[in-house]
Amino acid sequence: MREIVHVQVGQCGNQIGCKFWELISYEHGIDSLGISHGDSKVQLDRVNVYYSEARGGKYVPRAVLVDLEPGTADTVRYSPFGQLFRPDNFVIGQSGAGNNWAKGHYTEGGELADVVLDALRKEAESCDCLQGFQLAHSLGGGTGSGMGTLLLNRVREEYPDRIMLTFSVFPSPKVSETVVEPYNAVLSVHQLVENVDETFCIDNEALYDICFRTLKLPCPTYSDLNHLVSFTMSGVTTCLRFPGQLNADLRKLAVNTVPFPRLHFFVPGFAPLAARSLVQYNAESVGEITKQIFDPKNMMAACDPRHGRYLTAAVIFRGSVSMKEVDEQMLNIQTKNKGHFVDWIPNNVKTAVCDIPPQGMKLCGTFVGNSTAIVEVLNRISAQFSAMYRRRAFLHWYLGEGMDEMEFSEAVSNLRDLISEYLQYQDMQTDADDEEFEGEEETEVED
Ligand code: GDP
Repeated sequence: MREIVHVQVGQCGNQIGCKFWELISYEHGIDSLGISHGDSKVQLDRVNVYYSEARGGKYVPRAVLVDLEPGTADTVRYSPFGQLFRPDNFVIGQSGAGNNWAKGHYTEGGELADVVLDALRKEAESCDCLQGFQLAHSLGGGTGSGMGTLLLNRVREEYPDRIMLTFSVFPSPKVSETVVEPYNAVLSVHQLVENVDETFCIDNEALYDICFRTLKLPCPTYSDLNHLVSFTMSGVTTCLRFPGQLNADLRKLAVNTVPFPRLHFFVPGFAPLAARSLVQYNAESVGEITKQIFDPKNMMAACDPRHGRYLTAAVIFRGSVSMKEVDEQMLNIQTKNKGHFVDWIPNNVKTAVCDIPPQGMKLCGTFVGNSTAIVEVLNRISAQFSAMYRRRAFLHWYLGEGMDEMEFSEAVSNLRDLISEYLQYQDMQTDADDEEFEGEEETEVED
């Protein structure tokens, strides 16, 4: 069995992490106490990827929960799924990180990191054949962002040949009030570029827009956003959790989707999108799901793939569908939009089908795109960073924790290099590379 060790750090990390465990437990027929009530063999075939089996046939998430303050962890502990987790896998500090990356990465987080590493090591050592680690965190705060990336580095040092995957929540001023988030995000991306194999970019800006525009929620809450996040996390891990799939482990996913090691920032997507209350009324066709899944409005990162090119993409259909119909629809959409896939990676779109849909749905699709359009998200963060950094605003909070200003300039220059690399591959021409995308390109209206 090829196991994954999960770690969730900070408020956001713990909130999205817990939703993930809740949803996948349901899919695998596991109740809030870890007892299996599954009615199909497929549900338990690969359950060991994410769960350990404890005495009495109880399934326990292979998860370590970390925070620098007790609030969120207490909420988790006393939530309906709180008893699912191993009590000694909660590693909780008291000091808080005050939205300061330096506190998470160096001072407060540094002090607690060894305890977390012990817990992770214990989980890793009880695995038959560990495939890698996954981290759920936000990039905008101090703990998930600063301490999360510290843990990545420490784990990488200790397990250099294991795959490292992150679910990273990008900050948006539409959702959060904290002004220093762009600093924390850029300092984090600098670490993610070097020390991670696969990053799913979950962007609060896109989540907010989906809630507001598509789902018509006038004031989206974190709970609304996390509803989308949990379907995305469940969706992109489907192939890892159920038998007989494409990209069946973290390494295969990396091999199929990451053509150059630094360019591993994926745009996830999900269809159909529906408000919580409407989910059960959705009965979409394969054609409709395929159309929606490539629609910019369904992307969980605020970028328009029509402004860039796909290096690679993977689509996972879930539910009872005909493979023939899936193949036809997928071929159709690729032929129509040929100019939006680089043509120097033949067969760069992969499709998988899993019979088991998520809770409350009959049919859905999940999308993982490695698109050069991600530069729109990276540019946004970089511009917000630079506006403050040019005036050295708020820098004293970081220098006060012992950070050097150099780390800021190195981080933003690494981010700019990453943007240039994406653009270089976006514009890379081949002989037959001059077809235009058929229609649908948005035209800018000048006033
Ligand atoms: P930390 O506890 O120090 O890691 O700080 P947070 O996780 O609260 O980080 C703040 C960032 O995370 C901001 O960009 C918030 O908008 C975002 N955030 C906090 N909680 C959630 C959540 O439950 N869901 C989502 N999508 N974003 C969150």
